[in-house]
Amino acid sequence: MRNRMPMAAVIVMALFLSACGSTGTLADPAPVNTVERPRPVGAAENPTATSGSAAPAPPSCPADGRASIRPTGPLPPPGQMPDGNMRTIQQRGLLKAGVDQNTFLFGFRNPNTGQLEGFDIDRVHEIAAAIFGDPNKIQYVPLASADRIEALKTGKVDVVVRTFTANCTRWADINFSAIYYVAGQRLLVDKSSTVTDLKQLGGKRVCTQTGSTSFNTLSKADPKLVVVATKTWSDCLIMLQQGQADAISTDDGILAGMAAQDPNVKLVGNRFTQEPYGIGIPKRNEDMVRFVNSVLEKSIRDGAWQASYNRWLRPSIGDASPPVPEYR
Ligand code: GLU
Repeated sequence: MRNRMPMAAVIVMALFLSACGSTGTLADPAPVNTVERPRPVGAAENPTATSGSAAPAPPSCPADGRASIRPTGPLPPPGQMPDGNMRTIQQRGLLKAGVDQNTFLFGFRNPNTGQLEGFDIDRVHEIAAAIFGDPNKIQYVPLASADRIEALKTGKVDVVVRTFTANCTRWADINFSAIYYVAGQRLLVDKSSTVTDLKQLGGKRVCTQTGSTSFNTLSKADPKLVVVATKTWSDCLIMLQQGQADAISTDDGILAGMAAQDPNVKLVGNRFTQEPYGIGIPKRNEDMVRFVNSVLEKSIRDGAWQASYNRWLRPSIGDASPPVPEYR
């Protein structure tokens, strides 16, 4: 009698299998708010580890990390890089760029073309065009927020163009270009939510990404907040959609991208931080900082920055003009 199923069990199983194969309504195995759904891999509540930004601030960090290293003159012609790091990249034939592929509007993979696109990706194309005369000589390296500094320190990438806030703590480990965009931290909630302020979220779960300045800000905001840290922004959006988080909090541009993807969520409340974005560059490579700053100046001068902003961000965020570069 081993391996024999009772007849009743066989009938029940047959009914179940035929229901699975039918075109009728699918049973939801874990309806929201009844059974806890599995969380995205790596999601953690109130983790203690932060952003790789625990190093002490450098002794000199003008303008709170917004002031970069001044370019020394006009850009060399593409394909004629001077000796040093720029020549090394030219000879390699590809720019290694740390980016995101999950942040709609900044760095995301267009499902129709398979290509990476967005406001940050446009900056990568501009740097490649200035080095090689070809905007596509790029090797993309997708990075989580928490991996950006390490990727620069180990030389895995030449630049990080990934919604990267320039601040003094990070300047201790890496260099930043001039600021090319200024975001600010806000909240994203379900359309039906009445929350408009962090103060209303005590005891509730707010999702953000490990290794981001947003995580640090939330961790310090209110001890009653349950900060849920994930490895990607898509994981936060899924957790909000599934009712596993009550809000997402990070830079408004990133949240605007989520709102553009999902009509059931909304941005609420005011900005409660300033997040000036710079391009991350290894600490030793000052020649690259000067070069990238010349590329940014050119992009602002010839209207490429504005066209890129108008394409990606203006429909969600409204009018803006490029930030004025600050140098030390
Ligand atoms: N701009 C913030 C940061 O650099 C949050 C966004 C992110 O981590 O991608 O930490």
